Amino acid sequence: MTRFRFQNRLILFVASAAFIALFGCKESGTFEAQDTAGMQWYKGNTHTHTTNSDGDSPPEYVASWYKNHGYNFLVLSDHNFLTDPAAYAYLADSSFMLIAGEEVTSGFEKKPVHVNGLNVSRLVQPQKDSTLVGTLQKNIDAIRDADGAPHINHPNFRWAFDHRALLQLKNDKLLEIYNGHPTVHNWGGGGFPGMEDVWDHLLTAGKHIYGIAVDDAHHFQGEFAANRSNPGRGWVVVRARTFSPAEIIENLEKGLFYASTGVALDDMIVEPSRVELRIRQDQDFRFTTEFMGAGGDVLLRTTENPAIYVLRGGEKYVRAKVTNSGGAFAWTQPVFVQ
Ligand SMILES: [Zn+2]
Ligand SMILES: [Zn+2]
Repeated sequence: MTRFRFQNRLILFVASAAFIALFGCKESGTFEAQDTAGMQWYKGNTHTHTTNSDGDSPPEYVASWYKNHGYNFLVLSDHNFLTDPAAYAYLADSSFMLIAGEEVTSGFEKKPVHVNGLNVSRLVQPQKDSTLVGTLQKNIDAIRDADGAPHINHPNFRWAFDHRALLQLKNDKLLEIYNGHPTVHNWGGGGFPGMEDVWDHLLTAGKHIYGIAVDDAHHFQGEFAANRSNPGRGWVVVRARTFSPAEIIENLEKGLFYASTGVALDDMIVEPSRVELRIRQDQDFRFTTEFMGAGGDVLLRTTENPAIYVLRGGEKYVRAKVTNSGGAFAWTQPVFVQ
């Protein structure tokens, strides 16, 4: 080997080592498969009040409002009160049902700790503890003990807690990222993170948690206005094979749903290396879709419909947010890369 050829090989070796160091040797994983064959979509709201706590209308009126507005399921979640769906069985049919629920309402010092229990088998008593995290955890555990699924409500209500507390919790899969009540501070501000930021913190740290949108409605009478707690503002659309409380709640906890404040999806197709969102056209509204990864980084912004993201390698998870030209959103759940 001549000295010249040796030098060439050395340069090639150093250059390729530098390339790998700079750009990384990216593993091209695949999206976790989703078994959605034969499933349909069901629209529902998991957080609403009646005269059984601080709402202004009785359960029958509230349930009828949702039924008449195209919802398929509703959880009446009164403060520390379980409304028995069987008492309103006459409202249920093949496309509408009530699911048992309760807003387990506790607190730590002056901070509200509200955790919804979905499909609980009995009334859950609010729990107290000597720490904020302990209070949250005890209420989650009490809901699980009653065979229910917990969802953590409005963390920014009275600026109660954020991702630092939420990261320490166990056995919770659902977090309100949008709540329609006027004083819950969904978007953060004044140095406090918004709910999407909080969610991204948790996902980036490796917690598998799903983001839900809810009404938390109290006011069904009188004027509907931005400063009142009216229904129809935030909901979830869940996939299921059978239209039953058990499967709807189980699939919520598997992330087989999207959350919305007004944008509808016709489908979300997850393949090993791509995600495709088919956005439902609504009048002449236009759509922008952002696919986001760890750290809340926008990996791709597109105005195409369907909106398609192809794995590049190195992603931990990918979630999408669709915004329409009226300022409404749909949030898909993260799809994790294995
Ligand atoms: Zn609450
Ligand atoms: Zn509430």
